[in-house]
Amino acid sequence: ATEHFDAIVVGAGPAGSAAAYTMAKAGLSVVLIERGEFPGAKNIFGGVIYRKQLEDIIPEFWKEAPLEREVVEQRLWLLGDQSVVTLGHRNEAFKDPNNCWTGLRVKFDQWFASKAEQAGALNIYETVVTELIREGNKVVGVRTDREEGDLYANVVVVADGVNSLLGKSLGVHREWQPDEVSLAVKEVIAMPKEKIMDRFNLEGNEGVTIEFVGNTLGMAGLGFLYTNQDTLSFGVGVMVSDLKKKRVKPYELLESVKQHPMLRRLLQGGETKEYAGHLIPEGGYHSIPPLSGDGWVICGDAAQLVNFVHREGTNLAMTSGRFAAEAIIQAHTKGDFSRVGLSLYDRLVRESFVHKDLKKYKGLHNFLRDSDPTLMFDKLPRALNDAAYQMLLVDGVPKAEKQRMAMRGITDAAGGLMNLVKLGAQGWRAM
Ligand code: FAD
Repeated sequence: ATEHFDAIVVGAGPAGSAAAYTMAKAGLSVVLIERGEFPGAKNIFGGVIYRKQLEDIIPEFWKEAPLEREVVEQRLWLLGDQSVVTLGHRNEAFKDPNNCWTGLRVKFDQWFASKAEQAGALNIYETVVTELIREGNKVVGVRTDREEGDLYANVVVVADGVNSLLGKSLGVHREWQPDEVSLAVKEVIAMPKEKIMDRFNLEGNEGVTIEFVGNTLGMAGLGFLYTNQDTLSFGVGVMVSDLKKKRVKPYELLESVKQHPMLRRLLQGGETKEYAGHLIPEGGYHSIPPLSGDGWVICGDAAQLVNFVHREGTNLAMTSGRFAAEAIIQAHTKGDFSRVGLSLYDRLVRESFVHKDLKKYKGLHNFLRDSDPTLMFDKLPRALNDAAYQMLLVDGVPKAEKQRMAMRGITDAAGGLMNLVKLGAQGWRAM
C-alpha cells in the first residue's frame, strides 16, 4: 500500500521545520524530507536568529536551542582603503527580552527538525525529492530518489530553499536572474573564547555583529563578522551579476576583504575550520511567486521571502512556514486542499510583516540594479572615510575650508552635486 500523509514538507531548513512542527503539534500526520545527511549538514547563513518569530512557534525556545551569543551590539562599518567610518548601536535592553542570537546552522537546523520529530513528524534524511506527483493540476505527492520512494499527501509544503527545483517545476518561478541573487561565501574561524570576549568587548554570553560595506572590489555587496562562543562567522556576499561582470571568484573576494587592516586584526590568530558558499534571494517584493495552488504551498527562500536590507531571512522563513501550517490545519478541518482552501496562507503572509517589509523596499532592487555599484559600494564609502579623516585631522587648515574639501570629495565621488541629490532622492524613495 502507498503511504498517505496529511502533509509532506520538503526541506528541513527554518521554513520546513517550522511548518512540520506546527502541523505535527496540531495532530496532523506529517513527513519532513531533507536531502542532507542531517538537517543543517550543508546549510549556511550569517547568521543571526531572531527571537520573536521563533518564540511564536516554540515559546522559550532559547532555554534549549543551540544558540551561540545574545547580540547586544550591531555595528555597521563603511570601509575605506585602510580606514573605517563606524555606526552602530549597543543596548543592555537587547538582553531582556533578547532580540536575537548568533547561531550555526549545523547545530540549529538539527535541533529545530528534532522538535518537529518530537511533536510527531516523521523525519526522513538523505532523501532527495526529485519531483512533484500530480493528478491534473493538483499536486498529490512527491517522488524521491529512494527505491519505491513515492509518497502521497493532501498537501505538499515546498520549502526547498533558494534554488527551489520544485518551485521551478510548479512554474511559479523561473530560473533566478543573476541580479536577483547574491552569492555569499563564509568561513567559520575558530578562536579561543577569551580572545573573542576581549577583542569584541563582551561579557558573559554577549555577542556582537558587524556588517561592512566597501572594499568589495566595486561590486554591490555586504560583508559580515559575527561572534559565536569560540568561533567567528566571517563572510561576504555580492550580486551574482557583478561577480560575472568582474570575473572575480568569490574566494578571491573573501581573501582580499580579509586583508583590510580593520578586519585583519579582528581575525588574527583564528583558524579557519569551514568554508562554504550559498545563494541569497535578493529579488525582493517583485520576485515573490504565487504562494499556493491546488495541493501545494511554497515558503521561505523558495518564495524569495528575504529582507536583505535587514539581513532577515530565517525569521521570514519560519513565519511563512508557520502560516502555511496554520492554513493547512484549517484546510484539513474543512477537507478542502484546493487553492481556495489554502488561501488563508496567502492572506496571513500578506497581512504580516513578511509582505509589508518586502513591500516597503520594493523599489530597492531596481534602484540597486540601475545604479553604478562602484559608486555605492566603493567610491562613496571611500569619500566618507576621506571626509572623516579631513575633518578630524588637526593640521592648521581652517575648518570651513576642510568642510568644503570634504563636501567636494563626496560630490566628486557621486559625479557632481546634481547626481548626489538625485541618488539621495532615489535611494530615499527606494527605502
Ligand atoms: P533553507 O535554509 O535553504 O533550507 C532548505 C532545505 O531544503 C535545506 O536543508 C536543503 O538541504 C533542503 N532541500 C533542498 N532541496 C531539496 C530536495 N529536493 N529534497 C529534499 N531536501 C531538499 N537569515 C537571517 O535570518 N539572519 C542572517 O544572519 C542571515 N545571514 C545569511 C548569510 C548567508 C551567507 C546566507 C546564504 C543566508 C543568510 N540568511 C540569514 C538567510 C537565511 O539563511 C535564509 O533566508 C533561510 O535559511 C531560509 O530558510 P528556508 O528554510 O527557506 O531554506
